[in-house]
Amino acid sequence: MSASPARRLRWAEIIAVGTELLAPPRLDTNSLVITRRLNDLGIEIRAKTIVGDRADDLRSAVRGAMARTELVVLCGGLGPTDDDLTRDVVADVTSRAMSEDPGIVDEIRRRFEARGARMPERNRRQALVPDGAVVLPNAAGTAPGLWIEHEGSILVLLPGPPAELTPMLESVVEGRLASLAGDERLHRRVLRVCGRTESETDEAVAPVYSQWLHEDPPVETTILSSPGQVELDLTLRSASAARASARLEAAVGALTAILGADVYSTDGRTIEEIVGGLLRARGWRIGVAESCTGGLVSARLTEVPGSSDYVGLNVVCYSNEAKAAHLGVDRALLAAHGAVSEPVALAMADGIRALAGADIGLGVTGIAGPSGGSASKPAGTVVIAATTARDRLVRTFRFPTGRARVRLFSVQLALDLARRLLTGQAPGGAFVYSPSAGRG
Ligand code: AMP
Ligand code: MG
Repeated sequence: MSASPARRLRWAEIIAVGTELLAPPRLDTNSLVITRRLNDLGIEIRAKTIVGDRADDLRSAVRGAMARTELVVLCGGLGPTDDDLTRDVVADVTSRAMSEDPGIVDEIRRRFEARGARMPERNRRQALVPDGAVVLPNAAGTAPGLWIEHEGSILVLLPGPPAELTPMLESVVEGRLASLAGDERLHRRVLRVCGRTESETDEAVAPVYSQWLHEDPPVETTILSSPGQVELDLTLRSASAARASARLEAAVGALTAILGADVYSTDGRTIEEIVGGLLRARGWRIGVAESCTGGLVSARLTEVPGSSDYVGLNVVCYSNEAKAAHLGVDRALLAAHGAVSEPVALAMADGIRALAGADIGLGVTGIAGPSGGSASKPAGTVVIAATTARDRLVRTFRFPTGRARVRLFSVQLALDLARRLLTGQAPGGAFVYSPSAGRG
């Protein structure tokens, strides 16, 4: 093991700068990226602040953060315009003069000229460097970052555009911060579950994971739910990657033993990656016929690079007429059972399988709401079928309402039904209200 460094960073604060981040349409996503990378180093976030482009507010945010923590990461406000104040405020708070760095001016000018443009004079502001600051090169834009050490605090100034911040953060994290963070790292594993609600999942696994908190070092478990998916995040702080990996592997094994086939991923892969992997392993193609999801299942499947190996033709058939005309769904079935029914979902799956020449067909039909429901089929009722030449699975779900949410649940559960058919697993119980037609 290496000698322990003179200082060991353990805590940080983040300040996201930008008035636009205080209004609904713009989200501060940078702080999440920063948090993730600092956590990997074992540095935890004590607080984060979003502050508008106002010098007084920014000044007090910087002073407060420096008083509390040894590492303050700021993002945004390094642009060339008058509302970009971060550089000036930090220079002010740390009582440093700024001077223009001719190398940076040249670099910015070169960037403009490469695009056939002249550097506007105001961009010179981005070349101002507070005394004693280390310049962090920006490979993706004009504003360089800055690293300033001041009275026991480290201030890291990063540009706002995520495409510029991320590579700069990587280089700072891998270089300067790693050597200050000591040997311990946060190690992480993710288990993804479909077919149980968050509380069902927690009830099943809490007795096991709560014991791990008493170990040294403890394995910490966090449960996160999103429509149709529950995620169990396991983290462990350790200086030994090998020991951490073995401990986390054992923890994953213990949770999987409890949750069984409802666990679809233990290596960070999404459900569409898992389904894609299963299709690829068999050399199979999938065909998807969507109604209420309007193409979202297709979108998710094709988010995976290389999905053209197993996706050929998918369709959105919204009207009854389209279901009959293009998928060959029997009009009599539609009339007798309605579009949102198990016989119709199965016929959609069979229809797209034939039309696409696929090995597995997926049919999704439902009532996303808020209108269109009835007493027997309220909004949120969704029927999903998966068929192959040999096997058929169909399930009727009643998802929590809200149009966007119903559609997200449907996508997740449709992909999960495909996974279960491909792996020969019975579907999970959450949200299923008529397990009647197990084999349609
Ligand atoms: P700035 O460095 O303040 O000029 O920011 C430039 C652009 O980066 C802004 O218009 C935003 O689109 C984006 N941006 C700034 N801060 C953030 C943040 N915290 N999260 C995500 N995007 C951001
Ligand atoms: Mg800004």
